[in-house]
Amino acid sequence: MADPSALVLFSGGQDSTACLAWALQRYGRVETVGFDYGQRHRIELECRLRVIAEIRRRFPEWGARLGEDHLIDLGVLGQISDTALTRDRAIEFEASGLPSTFVPGRNLAFLTFAGAIAYRRGLDRLVGGMCETDYSGYPDCRQTTMTAMSEALGLGLDRPVPIDTPLMRIDKAATWKLAEDLGGADLVDLIVEETHTCYFGERGELHDWGYGCGACPACELRAKGWREYRAAKS
Ligand code: ZN
Repeated sequence: MADPSALVLFSGGQDSTACLAWALQRYGRVETVGFDYGQRHRIELECRLRVIAEIRRRFPEWGARLGEDHLIDLGVLGQISDTALTRDRAIEFEASGLPSTFVPGRNLAFLTFAGAIAYRRGLDRLVGGMCETDYSGYPDCRQTTMTAMSEALGLGLDRPVPIDTPLMRIDKAATWKLAEDLGGADLVDLIVEETHTCYFGERGELHDWGYGCGACPACELRAKGWREYRAAKS
C-alpha cells in the first residue's frame, strides 16, 4: 500500500507549522492549503510562503514529500462576519462568552473546502492545528466538532475523511516541545523566526518566542508557552 497522503490546513502560524512538520514526518505526500478570508493582517499570508520555503531549504527530506500549496479565496467569510480578525475592532469578550476574534463558521468552512481539495487531489486525510486545551473556548476547535465534521465530509464525499488534530490535547509549551522532537533546534528556530501568531500583525521586534505585539491574547499564549517550554528544559 502506498504511503498515506495528507492535506494540512496551514496558516503560517506556530500551531499549523508544528502540524505540517508532524505530517511530513508521518506521511509520504503532503500538500498544504491556506485561506484568504480578508484577515486584517496580510502578514499571515506572506509568512506561510516563507515558512514553506524555509522548510524546503532546511529540511530537504521533508521538502521531497512536500507537494503543492493551495491558497483559497474565502473573502466571503469576511463579508458575512464582523469580528476582530476581519474588521478594525477591539479584541474583547462578547455576550456569548466568546472573544471577538471568533469568526463564526470559519473552521467549518475551512474543513469543507479542505475536504473538497483533498478529494480532487487524491489525498487521504486532513491535518489541522485545532486545540481545545488553551484556546479561548472556540467551539469549532473542539474534538467533538472535528469528529462530526469528519463524519459529515465522509458522508457527503462518499469516502472516509479522517481529520488528524495532533495539538488537540496539548498546551502551547508542549507544542514547542513537539516541534523540537520533530525537527530539533532548527525547527524551533524556524518557528520563532518565520511564523506569525499575533492578532495585530506586529513584526517589529524579534522576542525570544518570535515576533508579535506581546500583549494580544495570541502573543500572550505563545510567550507563556515558550517560557514554560524553556523552564522545563533547564
Ligand atoms: Zn500580538
